[in-house]
Order: sequence, then C-alpha cells, then structure tokens
Amino acid sequence: MVTRPISTPVLIEALGTLNVAAAEDWPQEVSKFGKAFREFIIRYAKNDQPPGETIVRGLGAFIAVPREINKKFNVMAAFRRRSDWARWIPKLNVAAAVDSEAIKRYLIGSDTRYLRYVMTEEANQLGTKPLWCWICEIDAMTDDWCRTCFLGHCGTEECAKGFNTHKCL
Ligand SMILES: [Zn+2]
Ligand SMILES: [Zn+2]
Repeated sequence: MVTRPISTPVLIEALGTLNVAAAEDWPQEVSKFGKAFREFIIRYAKNDQPPGETIVRGLGAFIAVPREINKKFNVMAAFRRRSDWARWIPKLNVAAAVDSEAIKRYLIGSDTRYLRYVMTEEANQLGTKPLWCWICEIDAMTDDWCRTCFLGHCGTEECAKGFNTHKCL
C-alpha cells in the first residue's frame, strides 16, 4: 500500500524465504509431515472415537483434532472459542517427521520430556508460564502449572479438575 511502504530489507528477506521454500520443496515436506502426524494421531486415538467419526481434520500440517482427543496428548493447542476442535500447527521439523513412531517420541514419548524441561527452565528464568489454559483455552491465570508437561490452567473448578487429573508425560 502506498501509505504503508514495506522497506527493502523486509522484501529481500521475504524473497529469501520464498527461495528457500522452493529450493527445499516445503509444500512437499509439509504434506509428508502432515501425513506422518495424522497416522500417529489415528493410531494413538482411534479407540477413543465412535466408529465412523473423523478424528483428524485440516490440510497438510494444519491439523485439527476433537477437543476431547486433544486432552490425551498433553499438548497446548489453539482453539477457536467454543469450538470442539483443537488446532495444531506443529513446528515444521523435518527430522521429527520421518514417520509416526518418530512423531510419537517427539510429542508424547522420550524426546518430549527434554523439550518441555527446556521450556519450563526458560519460563522459570523469565518469570513466565504457559500462556493459556490447556483445557478451555482461556488465559491461564494461576501459578499452578505443571513443570513436567508445561501445561497451565485458568483456575476454574472444572479446568482445575481436568488439570489435576492429567497424567504427566
Ligand atoms: Zn480453563
Ligand atoms: Zn504434567
């Protein structure tokens, strides 16, 4: 826009990103990554969903899972208010995307403990905490958050109950 010019360095950087995306074929990677994630979710959660119902939606690496199923994974997802679907936008990490076993390790297995430990350490140093309630997605208000899983809750009775019964990774 004429009234909001973009500076040349920003444009050069954007062009650089596009060049890397083309050179590394990100669309192809995203679709492989999304496929591995979906396979993992379906394998892990299929017994919790009534037969015939979809447990994963979305496209490529944009993944949506039902709210109830999301809770199984101890993952901070994004929610649209009152939606029954949790949205995952996993960090594109090609190393983690090779297959659904690797995703399992990365998300709920041995690798995840270290990743969450790092996030907890960082939060402790900076005096921060998980930003939103893991159960209902509203801003997390309490200081009662799980240092193992890096999950917080908003403090309402229902969410506190859900939080207190979560099984640590
Ligand atoms: Zn809550
Ligand atoms: Zn925990």
